[in-house]
Amino acid sequence: MWVTEAADGFGLTVETTRQLCHKVTPYQTIDIYDTVKVGKMMLLDGIIQFTEYDEFAYQEMMAHLPLLAHPAPRRVLVIGGGDGGVLREIAKHPEPVVIDICEIDREVIDSVREFVPSMACGFDDPRVTVHIGDGSEFVRTRESWYDVVIVDSTDPGGPGEALFNAAFYADLKRAMTPGGVVASQAESIYLLPDIVRRLCAITNQLFRYGGYATVLVPTYPTGTIGVRVASDGRDVTVPVREPSPELAAQLRYYTGAIHRSAFAVPKFAEPLIAAR
Ligand code: SAM
Repeated sequence: MWVTEAADGFGLTVETTRQLCHKVTPYQTIDIYDTVKVGKMMLLDGIIQFTEYDEFAYQEMMAHLPLLAHPAPRRVLVIGGGDGGVLREIAKHPEPVVIDICEIDREVIDSVREFVPSMACGFDDPRVTVHIGDGSEFVRTRESWYDVVIVDSTDPGGPGEALFNAAFYADLKRAMTPGGVVASQAESIYLLPDIVRRLCAITNQLFRYGGYATVLVPTYPTGTIGVRVASDGRDVTVPVREPSPELAAQLRYYTGAIHRSAFAVPKFAEPLIAAR
């Protein structure tokens, strides 16, 4: 059985062997499959969120780019991220004492816990506190609190829409400590250039430093996705710390060299990243 993600005039098809889960929640449809080539695969509203084959690339870059662009990340917030992958990567760092996650859909967490333990292990770290709710409302309840915020959202259109506007980023900046670093799921420069432009324009208005890192993920349509990283404190395109030998031994994608090179963008994308 071939399953196709078809959206925005483009499709990506994966051969599956069986469907493990199909749920309709108040927020979205959740599907998890076993596949021939790419391990377990989860889709939300028909859009691939991860496959076990290449999820490490996305999760590592979403977590380690901002954490290693901050000198001492003690309090970390994940918005969205209900699959647990970004939490799993944050938990590899000894510095955070607080790891909060605000996910809107409890069913995503429960489904991953039941069917994809390789991802859900991120929830097991004792520093993690789960908040169920809309991330755009959650950030309004904190002031000058988080050193690093990671916005691991679905695409705009569904519940993720609230996480792609200027008011949300203004609230999020207030929730961050001075010099805090934010990293956001920032779509593909080939598939959704208008959303890349929108996200970069919003964050360029609010933060002094920023960059768009490209990540190679074959099971996202066009094979790439971006991580938008921004801060008022320092140039985020250069790590302030190298991964410790213990951390480096656990990583498959992130290196200091990847951090420094991932923010180079092709010429056609430069105006998207510089947008205001
Ligand atoms: N890797 C990802 C991708 O492919 O886009 C995103 C992964 S993670 C599964 C995205 C999560 O964001 C989903 O579980 C979804 O429920 C959550 N989400 C969407 N909108 C949200 C909101 N407004 N507040 C909190 N969580 C939200």
